[in-house]
Amino acid sequence: MPKRIGLFGGTFDPVHIGHLRSALEVAEFMGLDELRMIPSARPPHRDTPQVSPQDRLAMVAEAVAGLAPLMVDDRELKREQYSYSIDTLESFRAELAPDDQLFLLLGWDAFCGLPGWHRWQELLQHCHILVLQRPDADIDAPEALRDLLAARSTSDPQSLSGPGGQISFIWQTPLAVSATLIRSLLGSGKSVRFLVPDAVLSYINTHGLYRASN
Ligand code: ATP
Repeated sequence: MPKRIGLFGGTFDPVHIGHLRSALEVAEFMGLDELRMIPSARPPHRDTPQVSPQDRLAMVAEAVAGLAPLMVDDRELKREQYSYSIDTLESFRAELAPDDQLFLLLGWDAFCGLPGWHRWQELLQHCHILVLQRPDADIDAPEALRDLLAARSTSDPQSLSGPGGQISFIWQTPLAVSATLIRSLLGSGKSVRFLVPDAVLSYINTHGLYRASN
């Protein structure tokens, strides 16, 4: 049986219940064998030096411990610089059987920005794209994606077959949580209990992360 693997990238600064709930719902809905949470090396314009890539990775690891099929994947951080999705996909493909299925999870905003990505037209050679769509989203896809959507999109994500090549949409109501909110609460000395898993909260406290004094 081909494996079904989802890839969910993010800065995860820190990982929170919005990410985790979304990942778990997609994994269950799609019947994934694995859903890899992949912390990204941080692009320069988002630099917040007090939290190292190792801390972001460790928090995701804490968050998904014992939560199969969710798991953490450190390959983008091992490269120690900003890595392109195409590189990540090629690295997965090098490890997998040719008929294993890869599903790249992208929020609608990220999907709309696809034409600016390095070698974006090659992405579908390696994976399917699952666009996580919000019920309140009302903007049209950019012109550059219209032909691609017409040729490659399919309405039922559960019917995606083969190793890659198609685009489908999963509708989700995201929890109103962001890493920005969590950093801001912590920076002003407030609690983030119930917004991140207890293990992540404990890691943040133990390592004194995101405090105003840092
Ligand atoms: P920040 O506030 O620092 O921008 P963030 O909370 O948006 O961070 P990221 O690590 O940038 O988190 O996001 C990783 C992925 O998770 C993105 O695809 C993003 O759309 C998605 N995501 C972020 N917040 C939520 C949420 N509350 N529910 C579902 N998905 C989310």
